[in-house]
Amino acid sequence: MKKKVYIVGAGPGDYGLITVKAIECIKNADVIVYDRLVNPDFLSMKKDDCEVIYVGKKSSNHIVPQDEINEILINKSKEDKVVVRLKGGDPYVFGRGGEEAETLFDADIDFEVIPGVTSAIGGLCYAGIPVTHRDFSSSFHVVTGHSKKDDNLEINWESLASEKGTLIFLMGIGNIKQIVNKLVDNGKDANTPVAFVSWATKYNQKTIISTLKDAYNCVIENDIKAPSIFVVGDVVKLSEKLCFFEKKALFGKTVAITRTRNSSSKLKQKLEKLGARVIEIPTIKLSFIDSSEKILLDKIKDIEKYKYIVFTSHNSVKFFFNAIKSHKIDIRKLNCVKICSIGDATTREIEKNFIYPDIVTTEFNANSLSDKISFYEPGKVLFPCSKIAGDTIERELTKYGFYVDRIELYTNNVNYEIKDNIIDILCNEKIDYITFTSSSTFTSLLELIGKENLNLIKKMNIISIGDITSKTILSNIDKNTVYQSKEASIDSIIEKILELESKI
Ligand code: SAH
Repeated sequence: MKKKVYIVGAGPGDYGLITVKAIECIKNADVIVYDRLVNPDFLSMKKDDCEVIYVGKKSSNHIVPQDEINEILINKSKEDKVVVRLKGGDPYVFGRGGEEAETLFDADIDFEVIPGVTSAIGGLCYAGIPVTHRDFSSSFHVVTGHSKKDDNLEINWESLASEKGTLIFLMGIGNIKQIVNKLVDNGKDANTPVAFVSWATKYNQKTIISTLKDAYNCVIENDIKAPSIFVVGDVVKLSEKLCFFEKKALFGKTVAITRTRNSSSKLKQKLEKLGARVIEIPTIKLSFIDSSEKILLDKIKDIEKYKYIVFTSHNSVKFFFNAIKSHKIDIRKLNCVKICSIGDATTREIEKNFIYPDIVTTEFNANSLSDKISFYEPGKVLFPCSKIAGDTIERELTKYGFYVDRIELYTNNVNYEIKDNIIDILCNEKIDYITFTSSSTFTSLLELIGKENLNLIKKMNIISIGDITSKTILSNIDKNTVYQSKEASIDSIIEKILELESKI
């Protein structure tokens, strides 16, 4: 990607409302300079060595002054880097994107601007408010409710009040009294419907509908704060019918998902699409055991001695194939063995290597695999796994006459870095569900918070991915709040949550 400054719109907050071009910029950036209203989840797409600079500012409480932001952009680009200036919504809608681009032009620095979905349109859309509609409004006007000097807003109120189109105010909460009075004094009907949409497109979106004359009281009574969009016009009447977002199955619900630090979060994305707030708890840190590499390579050299390779987690698949790839071992070397897989995620990870496993179980337990494998001819089994993997596979397969050669490829260490934060979250956030996708996610959480804090988890609905995980949980927590998904898959976990929701 060409080294220059990219001024990029990141959309109003929803992870899905970012452009393909913006994603390309984030993935290639050497430096990312970002604001408070940018969804921080986008940063997970950055390169490992990308420098991240937060210049977030709360309304009228600028953490980093604009001059300094400009300076950062200039200096970083002079270091011959791909600099991405990531901004909430669209960079040219009250985002000072225009000022930043001018500064770069004046400094003779190459730049490009990537538009984004503005909260003024996209945010209102999620609140069920179309900015135009043939029956109600044939234009819309986006106005700042914040002035440069903090005195009178530089707005032609007479003309604005006489407009039949939709009026959209950004940064208007602090000056709501003045906005309302000016509109009414200049002839706008005091009964015009209005809406406040806070944190639009996010799990905590809130839409409050009122009228122009009651708007100020509405802000006080509901403690409406920035970031909020204030919209005035008849299109607000459509909100009840068209507000699809706040009607999503898991809107208003919070799901904590425990996971390994290295794993990507498909579960998070899927839950967010259903409207849930997701809190990630990366309880485990995975590390490759360097000394196992040579042992693994020796075994692969002699792979003809084996009849099967058994994978019981997607992480063992990852570590196994990474080692193979880094030594440029041709995948056809594995031609002589049957590949066995437990669970959907494991199977998917194997398939990424263009191998379609011979023996597959969707249920996440060793018994179901040994049941299936028992129909095959006994032989030697290579079992790449984690240091903490249980011995069920070995025990079960041995019963049927198989010989299991276990090779521990990685360790799962408790992620102590998050210890301080985690108890705080469990104490203070209202969490409806907590998910466990392996025994070790549970045991490591327990290790982190301590048995004395187990009560914090007991009050949530606990969702387990399979028998072994449930057993581990149930040996610590009494039964009635532990639920198990039908299959060992993310979709099945979600299904379970939806099933429980439908019973409420
Ligand atoms: N460039 C941004 C606007 C920046 S000005 C855009 O195109 O959306 C900041 C103001 O935008 C906030 O004070 C608020 O009025 C509005 N805003 C931005 N994101 C918002 C969101 N998710 N929900 C509600 N208002 C938002």
